[in-house]
Amino acid sequence: MSRIGFIGLGIMGSPMAGHLVRAGHDVTGYTLNSAALEKLTAEGGTRAGSVAEAVRDAEFVVTMLPNHPEVEEVTLGADGVFAHAPKGALLIDFSTIRPESSIAIAEAGAQQGFGVLDAPVSGGQAGAEKGVLSIMVGGAESDFTAATSVFEAVGSTYIHVGEHGAGQIVKAANQLVVGGTYALVAEAIVLMEALGVDPGKGLEVLAGGLAGSRILELKRAAMVAREFAPGFRIDLHHKDMGIVAAAARQADIALPTGAVVASLIAAGRAQGYGALDHSALLKVVENLNGRGANQPGPQHLSEGKQ
Ligand code: NAD
Repeated sequence: MSRIGFIGLGIMGSPMAGHLVRAGHDVTGYTLNSAALEKLTAEGGTRAGSVAEAVRDAEFVVTMLPNHPEVEEVTLGADGVFAHAPKGALLIDFSTIRPESSIAIAEAGAQQGFGVLDAPVSGGQAGAEKGVLSIMVGGAESDFTAATSVFEAVGSTYIHVGEHGAGQIVKAANQLVVGGTYALVAEAIVLMEALGVDPGKGLEVLAGGLAGSRILELKRAAMVAREFAPGFRIDLHHKDMGIVAAAARQADIALPTGAVVASLIAAGRAQGYGALDHSALLKVVENLNGRGANQPGPQHLSEGKQ
């Protein structure tokens, strides 16, 4: 079993670190919120007071941070991973960040004697808590193989999808599908409710048919009940749709449905829902239809005529 320095114990990182401890690894964690450090020590891990302290003996360094500025600071910074981890350590970045940052971090790591994998995940908070994440990995095949014990502790599917940055491209494709699915489930709920059909029963039928999806399976009850505690914050999905848009531009391709989904997510932020779960796209669709809280409610077209 291995010595692991784990940076970023948030909604995803905290349960992932717990799985690594239970798998027998020696996990030392650092994050900005002390409650998560207390949880890690209660589970049998060790708390560190800095990135340097967390990684100084590490064979693997794991990062699970919000976005590329945090990952770049934690890895490349003067107080960061490459300045303080033992040469030869393998950095596994589970964060979702832009592919060009993953590539730059991998190049900087290689120059300083570190292997690097971009390994973004899918499966959400529930997948992290159950240790059944789906992991898309970019980097050297030999590093992917070396990291197997880490992947199997936190995930049930882990696939080497290509060179550095390829994991982030697959994750961008994942976020396109997830965002689009939420938007359409939200529209389905608003449609059924507007015509007096019970959306809970309706979505139960959809979940058993061709429209079925993991999102319908896991999230339909919370959406119908308007429970939007994150989960995965709209702010983070907005970040991810920016990665999707940049990747599409780089590839010179059009993603018209993705552009609409990105606008709906941006509208969610603009309407003040950035800290809510991305299933709160339902509130955006309700607002578009005059059916949100504090809205007067829909008027029949003829009533609106002057
Ligand atoms: P989060 O905000 O809950 O957690 C981020 C953690 O990073 C926090 O605990 C914070 O203290 C820590 N952090 C931030 N800056 C730091 C720094 N400089 N040094 C040390 N620690 C620092 O976010 P999350 O929901 O766990 O998401 C993490 C990543 O995983 C993001 O890239 C997100 O897009 C991705 N992701 C999230 C989900 C999800 O469902 N939440 C699913 C798949 C992928």
